Amino acid sequence: AAMREDRIKKTKTVCTYCGVGCSFDVWTKDRKVLKVEPSAQSPANGISTCVKGKFGWDYVNSDERLTKPLIRKGDLFEEVEWDEAISYVAKRFNEIKAEKGADDLGFISSSKATNEESFLMQKLARQIIGTNNIDNCSRYCQTPATMGLFRTVGYGGDSGSIDDIANSNLVITIGSNTAESHPVLASRIKRSHKLFDQKLFVFDLRKHEMGKRADRFYSPKSGSDLAWLSAVTKYILDEGLEDKQFLEEWVNGFDEYRESLEPFTMEYASELTGIPKSELIEVAEEIAHSNSVAICWAMGVTQHMRGSDTSTAISNLLLITGNYRKPGAGAYPLRGHNNVQGCSDFGSMPNFFPGYEATTDDEVRNRYEDKWGVELPAEFGKDNHQMIEAIHAGNLSAMYVIGEDTGIVDANINYVTAAFEKLDFFVVQDLFLTKTAEYADVVLPAAPSLEKDGTFTNTERRIQRLYKSLDPLPGSKPDWEILSLIAKEMGYDWGYEHPAEIMEEAASLAPLFAGVSYDRLEGYNSLQWPVAEDGTDQPLLFLDGFPFEDKKAQLYPLQFELEYDTTEEYDLHVNNGRLLEHFHEGNMTYKSKGITRKTPTAWIEVSEELAEERGLNEGGTVKLISEAGEATGVVTITDRVKGKELFLPLNDNGKSAVNFLTDNRVDKDSNTPAYKEIAVRMEVVKKE
Ligand code: SF4
Repeated sequence: AAMREDRIKKTKTVCTYCGVGCSFDVWTKDRKVLKVEPSAQSPANGISTCVKGKFGWDYVNSDERLTKPLIRKGDLFEEVEWDEAISYVAKRFNEIKAEKGADDLGFISSSKATNEESFLMQKLARQIIGTNNIDNCSRYCQTPATMGLFRTVGYGGDSGSIDDIANSNLVITIGSNTAESHPVLASRIKRSHKLFDQKLFVFDLRKHEMGKRADRFYSPKSGSDLAWLSAVTKYILDEGLEDKQFLEEWVNGFDEYRESLEPFTMEYASELTGIPKSELIEVAEEIAHSNSVAICWAMGVTQHMRGSDTSTAISNLLLITGNYRKPGAGAYPLRGHNNVQGCSDFGSMPNFFPGYEATTDDEVRNRYEDKWGVELPAEFGKDNHQMIEAIHAGNLSAMYVIGEDTGIVDANINYVTAAFEKLDFFVVQDLFLTKTAEYADVVLPAAPSLEKDGTFTNTERRIQRLYKSLDPLPGSKPDWEILSLIAKEMGYDWGYEHPAEIMEEAASLAPLFAGVSYDRLEGYNSLQWPVAEDGTDQPLLFLDGFPFEDKKAQLYPLQFELEYDTTEEYDLHVNNGRLLEHFHEGNMTYKSKGITRKTPTAWIEVSEELAEERGLNEGGTVKLISEAGEATGVVTITDRVKGKELFLPLNDNGKSAVNFLTDNRVDKDSNTPAYKEIAVRMEVVKKE
């Protein structure tokens, strides 16, 4: 019995799923995950978790885990030893760089991997290959939010902490199915809404759980949020309800901004959004008269052709009403993946070194060149979208993708996989033989979060440590080790023995993380960036002013035209998003037996009106056809959607119907695909 007890281990880790960043102890015995136990010390979640964090760990021991590197031989993969795989990858990278130049290679980091691994991926791309062609999956989701915040307040992160949302008088969510996509954060909002006098306004196409709980629910026409946000801001100014002192003290660019609001009358916004003018006026009055307003937003805002501008409009509104620099107020872009914030923070971006310092800034580049002993490229690299375009144009011939099932999650699957087929050399590193890996020349078996040390950064900029609970499944390796092996084979012996040393290097180079160290992050301790050298962090941003030269924020003028609409031929609009039970493309959660028993497959949500009009029944099958492709699914009739709106879950057990329908249109400022702007027509395959 004593021996059995010895084999039981309790290790602190951080959830591998969403950006809330719940931390907890995981109890293991040998390779078995016995239970997940949150601690009162868990900074983001206290004693709560959702179903995924609690029960979503079967994938770690799935039979489908890769345990040998694979090299393509014709149509088949052959299992090889690690030495052979690494030297082949290094040789091919060297050859392609020599023959076609560094910018012929592209790199995608994983938002599920650690900060240290993101740091090393960009180091490999920049130091060894010599390219800034590096990106990560925030390009699919949150880059527009980051863009909107950079333009206005200078930091691309939540302005406060999850905890702090409880201090808000008015919480507004826009395009966020918070209860399913960020469950523990949503439960905090639900709690303060119920217990305190906190108001909740929800703007969404779909009346999901938060919409049903809200004091007010509005359903503006898809892609029109910028119009109502700007009209509400204009109304507040016209009525003299702005925070004059805040504007005087902390904000630049007022006159030009005010002028730009001219077209955004309540009549105009009402016509575009479909929300009555009187209701928009009520929203404006409520915002203006609330002591503190926190606005949370997600993909329903960002995944549009005007995603960056709409995020900017949110920040403009917060500035006009003085809703920064105080508790319970501010901007809360809700990050999707567990480490999508950290993956960008630590430099896996085509324009930024770690800590959002531009590659074009000579002083910054020299700092890295001194440390790394090579000359680095200045010019911005290609983002994810541009890399796919470049492959089709014959300007990019090799790619290295870590932990991202790009061939399912990128928009317009047919176009993306056609690009993969054109690559001369394609390396995919993942836990499983994903859809994307099927196109690879080399597949490298990676180890998941439970099998490594490192740090993740959650949506509130909180850096937390995860400790290794299990040894890597024999044959697999943590991403940081694989990256180090490739680097060494290419002649750069980085010499890291532990991820702590990687963080030390990042902290020495990027001022945003100057005081971050593993010692300071011991156990349940955490730090919210920016972290000064003495270890002081900033749970609430901007108390010392905004990170611009004169410490003032910047109002950013916007114009607007609704570019997207359904047509006579494609008469239905498809919305899409997450489910509580499944995460992202579902590669991990569909391997959890309990979760999959409960939610075995995705569906197509159809409104009661449309079902009646087209003679559809629950359980029938329909085919959706867009300009890009088609997808078939089972019908469920619900009051969550209205009229000609459809909803498809993003995750469908490795199939993802949605991205057969999405096309190549992107947000004009960030190249984030306009996933939410799909017009389709419907054919009935089977009535019931
Ligand atoms: Fe927490 Fe999100 Fe993990 Fe659920 S999925 S346990 S809310 S971090």
